[in-house]
Amino acid sequence: MASSTNIKVVCRFRPTNAIEAREGGEICVSFDDNLQTVGMRSQAVGSGPEKDGFTFDRVFPMGTKQHEVFDYGVKDIVKDVLDGYNGTVFAYGQTGSGKTFTMMGADIDSDELKGIIPRITEQIFQSIVESDAHLEYVVKVSYMEIYLERIRDLLAPQNDNLQVHEEKSKGVYVKNLSDYYVSSAREVYEIMRTGGAARVISSTNMNAESSRSHSIFLITIQQRNTESGAVKTGNLYLVDLAGSEKVGKTGASGQTLEEAKKINKSLSALGMVINALTDSKAKHIPYRDSKLTRILQESLGGNSRTTLIINCSPSSYNEAETLSTLRFGIRAKSIKNTARVNAELSPLELKGLLAKANLANTNYQKYIAALDAELAIWRAGGHVEQSEWASSAKAASAPAAATKKPSTSPSTPLPSSRSMTPIIPAIEGLRGDLDSRPQTPTVIGLDKDEREDFLKRENELSDSLAEKESALLAADKIVKELREELSFLKEQEASVNKENKAMSTQLNELRLQVERLDYDNKEGSITIDILKEQNQDAKSELEELKKQISELKTAQKDATAEDKEKRKQEKMAMMMAKFDTQGAFSEKDEQLRQLLAKLDSIDGAGALSPQELTAIRRQLSEGQSMVRETVDRLRQSQEENEMVTRRRDELEARVAALETEYEELLEKTIHDEETSDVDLAESMADLKVKLEAQYAAKRDAHLSEATDLKQQLEMKANEVRSLNASIDSLKSVNEELKRAFAVTSAGIEGGKNLAESAQDLERTRKAINVQLAEFDGVKKSLMRDLQNRCEKVVELEIQLDEIKEQYNNVIRNSNSKAQQKKMAFLERNLEQLTLVQKQLVDQNSSLKKEAGIAERKLLARNERIQNLEALLQDADRRLSIQNQKFEAQLQAVKERLDQARAQKAATTSPLTFGRIAKPLRGGGGGTPAAGPIPAPIGGGVGTANPLARLQSEEGG
Ligand code: ADP
Repeated sequence: MASSTNIKVVCRFRPTNAIEAREGGEICVSFDDNLQTVGMRSQAVGSGPEKDGFTFDRVFPMGTKQHEVFDYGVKDIVKDVLDGYNGTVFAYGQTGSGKTFTMMGADIDSDELKGIIPRITEQIFQSIVESDAHLEYVVKVSYMEIYLERIRDLLAPQNDNLQVHEEKSKGVYVKNLSDYYVSSAREVYEIMRTGGAARVISSTNMNAESSRSHSIFLITIQQRNTESGAVKTGNLYLVDLAGSEKVGKTGASGQTLEEAKKINKSLSALGMVINALTDSKAKHIPYRDSKLTRILQESLGGNSRTTLIINCSPSSYNEAETLSTLRFGIRAKSIKNTARVNAELSPLELKGLLAKANLANTNYQKYIAALDAELAIWRAGGHVEQSEWASSAKAASAPAAATKKPSTSPSTPLPSSRSMTPIIPAIEGLRGDLDSRPQTPTVIGLDKDEREDFLKRENELSDSLAEKESALLAADKIVKELREELSFLKEQEASVNKENKAMSTQLNELRLQVERLDYDNKEGSITIDILKEQNQDAKSELEELKKQISELKTAQKDATAEDKEKRKQEKMAMMMAKFDTQGAFSEKDEQLRQLLAKLDSIDGAGALSPQELTAIRRQLSEGQSMVRETVDRLRQSQEENEMVTRRRDELEARVAALETEYEELLEKTIHDEETSDVDLAESMADLKVKLEAQYAAKRDAHLSEATDLKQQLEMKANEVRSLNASIDSLKSVNEELKRAFAVTSAGIEGGKNLAESAQDLERTRKAINVQLAEFDGVKKSLMRDLQNRCEKVVELEIQLDEIKEQYNNVIRNSNSKAQQKKMAFLERNLEQLTLVQKQLVDQNSSLKKEAGIAERKLLARNERIQNLEALLQDADRRLSIQNQKFEAQLQAVKERLDQARAQKAATTSPLTFGRIAKPLRGGGGGTPAAGPIPAPIGGGVGTANPLARLQSEEGG
């Protein structure tokens, strides 16, 4: 099952390209006729191949067709892989030397230009179709890339840090590498395109990365013998290596030295591995130095049929690189691989193995028994001849119950191999058979168990390393994101700050405006207040004017009242002067007093004659009666006076009523005038008529009253006359009394009848005294009454005068010039008043207007303030909205980040097929290999096959 072969190395030269031609490069290589050796034009120095040329399994000169390379270099490998061997095809060479051209080809769809991989794919499906019918195949493909020592799944590009694991049964494999079951070349092409696209995307991102990354296309073919149940698995690695040139030459920039080192690491590790493999003295092969060598561990010096295609430029322009490429190829050529079929044993094979094991077991039993027997002899101090010593060979050949007699000869030195576990070929063979695959190289010198432990530990460590790496990466990413976010936030903050600043300035401006408006508002209100005050002032002025008018009116009234008083006094004086004759009373009084005094003086001496006395008595009785009469009259007069007073009161009341009426009328008229100037004339006429009517009535009343009063006056005058008459009579009485007194005084002088007459006189005197006192009182009351009456009369007269005057006024008012004058005056007054009123009204209206304007202004300002406030609110709102937006953006960014993370986490592949195994049945060799192969092919149904499983179930 195993075959040891050297790596097949072929060398391909591409035609010179435009750059080389431009740079003046010439062809610097030559080929021998066998197309196995390449000679360099400059091979003057050096030795070996440097001198004699580089010999490979095959050399393909410029212009070699794609199919030629495939047919010679690769075709056989496909068959081996189908049979369960591992296969590897490398393309090595500097960038631009044609590696990709060779592996993929310039055009997959072109028969002529398609490279090795498409051809291999077609070959695989072709071979499946041609294979035996009892063979069932499952084909799956994976596509990965190694860049900067990181393995990326090109079919799930989000998995960019895959780890290499090794297990005893599986060998070396990439953990978690996605694979797609395919049933036709078309599907493989699609996968190739998808992976290629992922590579292109990253290459544009990563600065000519593709020339510095290794791409590995892995095709796994599982063959199941439906008859025996035996399963064989072959892995075919198709590797397009990174450019072998020094990094500097590609002109890549922006890489640190560390990165440059890393870029070359895989390739230099490949060189080191090849060196170690070809150096017989080398104890250690540094497969683990790079991901590439680790993955290809079995392809190099291990379990694989390997072909290395070295690609070169024939131009002198690239001579140095070509030389190093050729040297690499030569070194690789001497590597030996031992390829084995990766098989799982069928029951039949297992049965055979069981039988073998049973046989080995019996042999062991025998051997143990022989050893026991020999040991017993030795222990017993006996000796066993060396030829008799128990051995596994003897045990195997001896009959089952064969026992050896113990030898008696002791003290034979123990062989050095004794401590070692004896090797029984049968067991070893069994072991070899049970191990379906050979040990991967490298872990040399380890015990089998140790090796397993080591691998396990290594896997674990690699996993944890990957975890750590991915954690680091994630942390890095987070840091980067956070940095980005920070810068974004900073930017945002800056912009927000700017905006804030702008807004705050705006706000300040608005505030200023608001303040200004506030101020204006206040000013407006002040103006309004002022206007109001002015209005108030005007009103008060008006009021004052009104008051003045009324005052003037009252003053006028007062003046008339004063005038009246004066006149009254004058009249009274005049009237009282009329009563100067009253002096008669006092005269008489005086006479009487004198008489009494005389009487008193003549008390003792004089005596009155009886005639005289009689005459005096008579006179006295006459005086008494007259006094009585006078008293009666006075009473009468009093009564009359009372009546007159009543009437006067009535008149007064009427006058007052009339006055009030008049005032009312006047006021009303003025008011009417004020209210309607238009009706002035009309109202004037009205007023006239009214006044006329009123005055006519008044006049009539007054006339009647006047006549009444005249009558009364006449009566009074009569009375006064009668009183005067009585006074005259009293005078005459007084005369008589004088005479009587003279007579009496003469009689007294005679001195007769004195005592009698003295008594008489005394009585008379007393009576006269009493009478005199009475008279005096009466006189006084009379005088008072008279004065009162006079006063009343005077008042009445004055009233009459006034009324007459008023009447005249009215008459004049209605007709005369004076009245017209007064009318004019009144009209003027009225006009003035109207003017004043108009002015006031105007003032008022202007004030109102101003107030309205001010109010409007105020309103406008208020509105403006409201607007500004609204603006402010709007600005606030905008700010908050922006804040929200900003937060939302932040949130969105975060969400996007989360989503991106989630997306990366979720395996989303553009490939819609290949998740389910599609076993392909061999077509029995008769089917022509044309057209796509429908899946599933053959009798096997995908899900029915125990090997068919969801890729995800594999889990790694
Ligand atoms: P590499 O993969 O080694 O960097 P490429 O395969 O990309 O190089 O080849 C570089 C260029 O040379 C491509 O344009 C390719 O078409 C061309 N080229 C390479 N080999 C051949 C060849 N044998 N015949 C014709 N053109 C070739």
